[in-house]
Amino acid sequence: MGRTTLRVELLRCTESPEELVAMAAKLCYSAAGVDELRQGVSQQDQTSFVSKLTDMGHLSPIEHASFTFGVEGVSRSLLAQITRHRIASFSVKSQRYVGEDSGVQDDGVFNYIIPPRIADLGDEEAQEFTRQMAQIQKWYDYWLDKLAVYGDTTKEDARFVLPNAAETKLVVTMNARELLHFFNIRCCNRAQWEIRDLATEMLRLVRGVSPVLFRQAGPRCLSTPCPEGRMSCGKQAEVREKFKHI
Ligand SMILES: Cc1cc2nc3c(=O)[nH]c(=O)nc-3n(C[C@H](O)[C@H](O)[C@H](O)COP(=O)(O)OP(=O)(O)OC[C@H]3O[C@@H](n4cnc5c(N)ncnc54)[C@H](O)[C@@H]3O)c2cc1C
Repeated sequence: MGRTTLRVELLRCTESPEELVAMAAKLCYSAAGVDELRQGVSQQDQTSFVSKLTDMGHLSPIEHASFTFGVEGVSRSLLAQITRHRIASFSVKSQRYVGEDSGVQDDGVFNYIIPPRIADLGDEEAQEFTRQMAQIQKWYDYWLDKLAVYGDTTKEDARFVLPNAAETKLVVTMNARELLHFFNIRCCNRAQWEIRDLATEMLRLVRGVSPVLFRQAGPRCLSTPCPEGRMSCGKQAEVREKFKHI
């Protein structure tokens, strides 16, 4: 395939996530026991419980709702950033077991991400980037060939010449509390563009299934003055408008 772009899907999430969170809240704040919780919580009470929790910052009950995303068309550079989030679970395409040899690629070059600012420089510069990826493919194939004497494990060393631009695919699971934190820092204009695009798309997906839980989700400046001080992007009004419509 060569050049590729972001694709993210919500693969699974907790069934009725807002009702489950409301059940946990009801247990905390009323005399209800397990039998009563089993009968469920009305839609109106769900909205009221969930909004109260998120407004008050009583966030442990929202940890019961979890969301699993399938992500592809992202770079190894993004991988280094997203895996810094410790309250998350990851499964990542292995570069040890899955090869990038040109023989298995559609157009003879491993999949890669081109940064929009490089693409925006024009066709000539974008083609130069593509040529560089093709050169790296040659280096990779060279080492696969040389290392073949060691048998099956050649990919784990040949991959050392692959760039940050190389595509990876992953499955990631976060609970709602971690997602709110992730959106706080990764939907912010100060975050790097690729993880910001991914976080923004993840937010759009979870709002579709949990509109109350994630109604105020996004960068911190949606609800407070920008905490970035002199590093602020200075676009708070624009950012607030954007996240209203996601
Ligand atoms: C704009 C930006 C620039 C960055 N630049 C750099 C950089 O230059 N270098 C660099 O190394 N990293 C950088 N990072 C990554 C950053 O430092 C964090 O590692 C990453 O964002 C994960 O965030 P976290 O630790 O808050 O979240 P998570 O790991 O997702 O944890 C969520 C929350 O749980 C709590 N928590 C988790 N683990 C612990 C623990 N062990 N002890 C106490 N509390 C815990 C904390 O409250 C934490 O905020 C950058 C991040 C951003 C958004």
